[in-house]
Amino acid sequence: MVVLSNEIRWFFGAIKRADAEKQLLYSENQTGAFLIRESESDKGNFALSVLVDRAVKHYKIRRLDEGGFFLTRKRTFTTLNEFVDYYTQTSGGLCVKLGKPCLKIQIPAPFDLSYKTADQWEIDRNSVQLLKRLGSGQFGEVWEGLWNNTTPVAVKTLKPGSMDPNDFLREAQIMKNLRHPKLIQLYAVCTLEDPIYIITELMRHGSLQEYLQNDAGLKIQLTQQVDMAAQVASGMAYLESQNYIHRDLAARNVLVGEHNIYKVADFGLARVFKVDNEDIYESRHEIKLPVKWTAPEAIRANKFSIKSDVWSFGILLYEIITYGKIPYSGMTGAQVIQMLSQNYRLPQPSNCPQQFYNIMLECWNAEPKERPKFETLYWKLEGYFETDSFYSDADDFIG
Ligand code: AMP
Repeated sequence: MVVLSNEIRWFFGAIKRADAEKQLLYSENQTGAFLIRESESDKGNFALSVLVDRAVKHYKIRRLDEGGFFLTRKRTFTTLNEFVDYYTQTSGGLCVKLGKPCLKIQIPAPFDLSYKTADQWEIDRNSVQLLKRLGSGQFGEVWEGLWNNTTPVAVKTLKPGSMDPNDFLREAQIMKNLRHPKLIQLYAVCTLEDPIYIITELMRHGSLQEYLQNDAGLKIQLTQQVDMAAQVASGMAYLESQNYIHRDLAARNVLVGEHNIYKVADFGLARVFKVDNEDIYESRHEIKLPVKWTAPEAIRANKFSIKSDVWSFGILLYEIITYGKIPYSGMTGAQVIQMLSQNYRLPQPSNCPQQFYNIMLECWNAEPKERPKFETLYWKLEGYFETDSFYSDADDFIG
């Protein structure tokens, strides 16, 4: 058994590879910052994660049969402490000499208004101050706000007439009970007068679509793109487990928080809103649909299901890998519908690995039942690099 003291600042326990990256990429860490964690893919074993030039490298720490540790058989250690001491003195073939232990950041959990609003689903609009307009969407404006002078929140102010308040409240009752770290938490509403307010948790970096398209996108690499996709799949797997359908999954409806946190927003709203953005939401059989994101059976026969959300997730993967390109560029919605019926699918973008494209193609299976579950998509994305030997083979690497 490996006994580690609580004092050891570099030991992070059983955290995921993606979370190790988030911790290391926190801006105050410098090249050489490192942590040791229990390997996810290889239970009972450890991995070393090191920051070098704003990228994170991972090494498998191997075990000797008699209980020691090594990266290369040329140099073995009885304890992890000795291992760390050695690689702090010399890089010994690592990409960089180990520096300071990674700083532990607390990824803040959103403050939950509901403990005060559980019986007051409807809150007094005077308790909400609108501070700064963040954007205007298809249903109205979005503001950064402050609730009770203390809690930062996002406030959607809805254009009068954009929905029937009764329809919304019915949907909101369900939405309020959907709670998951990868879903935007709905906190409260003000529906007694116009404009209606929808109050949710605030995400500092806005929509994923804009985030991918602007400067931040230039710094994003495949590991982060896969992590974004995995986080969205995790939120959607929860909706799937609750038998809930999003109906409008797209990069514009994923929000980006601090420390590379991504959350799904606006689930269920498509059903109650009367949308008026003609570029994206086209009229089909009396309802308006984001045609390029919508599964053929949903367009054709209004058959929305979690499997039509999976189709949209495939389009979202396309948005992620192309840094926010509009799918099927140059084609009208009607052309897309026509082409899809002839088995046409979005082609593989030039920078898109085959493994990633294969996942997209699975989501676009013409037969809804054949599309993967979100739970499966989540596991595939979470383990994406493990099947692709992401870890540097230290024996080769150290040489
Ligand atoms: P929407 O009406 O949902 O399309 O939102 C319009 C814009 O407001 C989005 O593109 C985001 O940039 C921003 N926004 C929406 N919701 C939030 C939120 N919860 N936190 C921060 N920004 C948001």
